Amino acid sequence: MVSRVIPVDPFDLVIFGGTGDLARRKILPGLFRRFLAGQMPPESRVIGAARSEYGDDEYRAEVKAALEEFIAKDSRPAKDVKAFLDRIHYVAIDATGKAGWSDLKKLLRSDVVQAFYFSVAPSLFGPLAERLHEWKCAVKDARIVVEKPFGRDLESARALNRTLGDHFDESQIYRIDHYLGKETVQNLMAVRFGNMLFEPLWNAQYVDHVQITVAETVGVNGRGAYYDKSGAMRDMVQNHLMQLLCLIAMEPPSRFDPDAVRDEKLKVIRALDPVDKNDIVRGQYVSEEDGESYLEQVEDPDSLTESFIAMKLNISNWRWAGVPFYLRTGKKLKARASEIAIVFKDAPHSIFGQELGRHRNILAIRLQPNEGITLGVTIKEPGPGGMRLVDVPLDMTFKDALGPDGDEIPDAYERLIMDVIRGNQTLFMRGDEVEAAWAWTDPLIKGWIERGERPKSYDVGSTGPEDAAVLMHREGRKWRDIKA
Ligand code: NAP
Repeated sequence: MVSRVIPVDPFDLVIFGGTGDLARRKILPGLFRRFLAGQMPPESRVIGAARSEYGDDEYRAEVKAALEEFIAKDSRPAKDVKAFLDRIHYVAIDATGKAGWSDLKKLLRSDVVQAFYFSVAPSLFGPLAERLHEWKCAVKDARIVVEKPFGRDLESARALNRTLGDHFDESQIYRIDHYLGKETVQNLMAVRFGNMLFEPLWNAQYVDHVQITVAETVGVNGRGAYYDKSGAMRDMVQNHLMQLLCLIAMEPPSRFDPDAVRDEKLKVIRALDPVDKNDIVRGQYVSEEDGESYLEQVEDPDSLTESFIAMKLNISNWRWAGVPFYLRTGKKLKARASEIAIVFKDAPHSIFGQELGRHRNILAIRLQPNEGITLGVTIKEPGPGGMRLVDVPLDMTFKDALGPDGDEIPDAYERLIMDVIRGNQTLFMRGDEVEAAWAWTDPLIKGWIERGERPKSYDVGSTGPEDAAVLMHREGRKWRDIKA
């Protein structure tokens, strides 16, 4: 299979926070890979911008070091690295002051696509938007890319939307959620809406329940101060898990275009029922090793912030009435694995009798590691000895199905940055979506704060607190194993 690279127009991409962790780990290596794939027309430039007083050459040395750290040696031939670095520039700039803005203005061209990536602390999103406007840096259809977190509650998200909206039209604002850039997430839409097979079954009549798991093995290491003000609900559920839930639960949009898709996602968020407190389990990891427990890694030794959350949601509409959606995410769990599982109901009558056990179809969409989709089907166990049933996966792992090119699935950031350059907002959150998600999240957080609820403890390397398992068991269900 030959991979097709869709060319983009020449661009100037400014990375505010170009010296930061995200730029070094994700954005710059991602751009280099797109460059290698031939997706960066010769006139395109990447302009790093931060306060550090670098010249172009010093910044290029930083970028080179980042590529050496995050891209395997045999994937970065020296001549390509050099050609890529020739397109890199740098402006020392202060997002909150005057320094550097006239330099940036001089450097930018108005006859290419302009994109400004706000890879800086959220407190700088507003000041950057204001200064881009004030210094007339941005052309009419310039795009701004805003990192997470987008607010910490409804009020702050609204304020941020207003500030950005004062200077940029909604069609110019790209709120990034890198989960939406994953190949499998888009493939989920292709599988659902490109086949006759699944969509007729995609409803309360045939689906028993849905599980969405995003499990991490890392703890808050070094980010304790930030994380403790946020917790799993704000950091993961309000954005990433909510976006995944929307893609599973939404009605078929009339077209695969930004507003048609985002309108349908918004309807899902608005149809979510408030969650009963008994349907939420929050946890904090504990370890016998010194310094390894959550409470030892954050400033407040009595913190009530959760590093794990599991919950059961109901969507009040015709398609999903009575179908629970179980969400769980946490740090320091037994494996790093993210998965969506659509668990179908039992066949209405088993001609094989109960003794052959219970067999259910499960469509599992794996986001990491090994992105891919598997459909569990029941077949006869091969060999003599009468009828025995066994569940086997029909594997749609891209690497295997697509041959060698399956190995070269672009990273979520690369794909999303190229969508920004193309001007395609389908995989970015609209302002009203983000606000609706906060409007649903806020009362839940307020509820447990008012009740002074202490998260349950769970062992490092486990699957979360026991109560999370009970959330499922009490309804005769079970979480799928968390497997790398
Ligand atoms: P970081 O490592 O702390 O980098 C911050 C960047 O901002 C640096 O380049 C810093 O450079 C620059 N900066 C700080 N103050 C500035 C100012 N007044 N004017 C201009 N530049 C300024 O942060 P990060 O981890 O890269 O995160 C960036 C954003 O991405 C944050 O919103 C974060 O929440 C989000 N994010 C990060 C990750 C991740 O994996 N790192 C993941 C998801 C989302 P100077 O000090 O030289 O100015």
